[in-house]
Amino acid sequence: MNSVIDLDNNYQLKIINSYSDFPDNVTNIDNLKISTIFRQKILLLKIDFNTLKKENFKNVLRKFLSIKNIILKKHIPLGIRNENTTIIGYIINYDENNEKQNDFILGINAILFDTKYERYNYIYDTVCNYLDSYFYGKNLCDFKNNKCGEKRTTSSVTGCCRHFKIKWLGPFSKLVECEYLNMDNHTCSVKCISCKLFTCDYLRKKGIQFKIKDILLLDTFFNPLQKYFIKYTTFTPKEKILKRLIMF
Ligand code: SF4
Ligand code: SF4
Repeated sequence: MNSVIDLDNNYQLKIINSYSDFPDNVTNIDNLKISTIFRQKILLLKIDFNTLKKENFKNVLRKFLSIKNIILKKHIPLGIRNENTTIIGYIINYDENNEKQNDFILGINAILFDTKYERYNYIYDTVCNYLDSYFYGKNLCDFKNNKCGEKRTTSSVTGCCRHFKIKWLGPFSKLVECEYLNMDNHTCSVKCISCKLFTCDYLRKKGIQFKIKDILLLDTFFNPLQKYFIKYTTFTPKEKILKRLIMF
């Protein structure tokens, strides 16, 4: 197993195998207290996956984010420099095949971005990549002759990538292909996270559904209004969704 986990922005987490390898000045991520960090004059994380409960991941990450913002204002160093990288903390009892543990580490990575925009951009891309890889190469929508399982008996040859144009015309509005659909290869050109999260009845019957509360990065770092936008802003380019998320 690697002895370090590389994060973005030149941060690293060091993997250790023995409790005696923890330096003296680490602070348990499960019990972050500003007074302890002031005393230590540094924030160096201790992460023990044997004691850290997955039900607490969200609250622990939120606390780390708020503490990080305070200590940066007080000019307390975050991690220790090691050549061109910064070791942000030490990790023990880590299982690289454990999806939940890896999600938690993605959350730490998100917190270490300097600005809210960078953090949201990272979360957005990470979740989209996860959703893309979930579908990749599986034909879960059962496309045959360009018709998906849900729309098999309709005229749609683009799955659910079409919508009513000029809704206020009521019965005179017409169904059109989404303007962002690349008709040459039937791919989305704008990375719309709401569309990627969408699952129709056909997929839900197959047991495929994505809930925001089950995706740690989305559940942890966004408030209810932002979650609403993430879920329902379909047919919309990434930049527009990010702009809206930053506003709230
Ligand atoms: S999500 Fe449903 S409606 Fe959309 S392409 Fe897949 S099967 Fe068709
Ligand atoms: S924005 Fe949504 S509806 Fe439009 S092409 Fe992309 S995935 Fe399809």
